[in-house]
Amino acid sequence: MRDEAMRVRPVARLEAGVPASDGAGVKLHRVIGTQRLPDIDPFLLLDEIRSDSGADYVAGFPDHPHRGFETVTYVLAGRMRHGDNRGNSGLLTAGSVQWMTAGRGIVHSEMPEQEDGLMWGFQLWVNLPAKDKMIAPRYQDIAPERIPETVLADGARVRVIAGAFNGVSGPVEGIVTEPLLLDLALPAGSRAVVSLPPGHNAFAYVFEGEAAIGEPATTVPRGSIAVLGAGDAALLRGGASAARVLLAAARPLGEAVTRYGPFVMNTQAEIRQAVADFQAGRF
Ligand code: MN
Repeated sequence: MRDEAMRVRPVARLEAGVPASDGAGVKLHRVIGTQRLPDIDPFLLLDEIRSDSGADYVAGFPDHPHRGFETVTYVLAGRMRHGDNRGNSGLLTAGSVQWMTAGRGIVHSEMPEQEDGLMWGFQLWVNLPAKDKMIAPRYQDIAPERIPETVLADGARVRVIAGAFNGVSGPVEGIVTEPLLLDLALPAGSRAVVSLPPGHNAFAYVFEGEAAIGEPATTVPRGSIAVLGAGDAALLRGGASAARVLLAAARPLGEAVTRYGPFVMNTQAEIRQAVADFQAGRF
């Protein structure tokens, strides 16, 4: 299984994330989009929501706009209702993913459809290149059963959301930054080797247990993100306990990032235009 010519990506940086609040007061753990880690081009934000207490999440994310990038919502537990100003509506259930390309503009809401019990999931923001920031909005709503799972010889189970791994392709398609997005369940001592395009930026976020990443391995505890360095492949192992890891990679844009809340453009002038368009009801 090991290719001797393969260069395993080291952990270039390890960050713990910070507590944050967003929407109408949803408590979350912010991992990308912090002062210490503003982005990992083209990834602009990664939030984990995880709470048993409705008070932490019931307020949800009422109507708000987006322009210039994509939002990815991946639900592990709980139910989230999505609706927008174009009449689209959908229910995100455990195991489902929504890849929303906001493009030139959308106004939407993301509201829990439960008042108590475990709500657990992620939101990832993926940037769009200048040439695509004003494309028409597009949704890919993926039901849990449409996300294939591949099981490795030593018991690691990998859900392939976007991109391809172990001969299995994920259902998300047509994304300009060619992302890979995997949810890996790694029993203690198991390992997964995931080849990654050398030019793509990559990170691994541990959301259960503890993982050993790279070679020599860096121990990455739950709630921490490993930014991967140069190489051809990610090497991930379950640590002393089983681990769950979100592994993402994508082609960096190398463009200026100008962000203002829910708008991410290249220049301040484009941000001013986005605010004006939103206020004038042009989304
Ligand atoms: Mn949103």
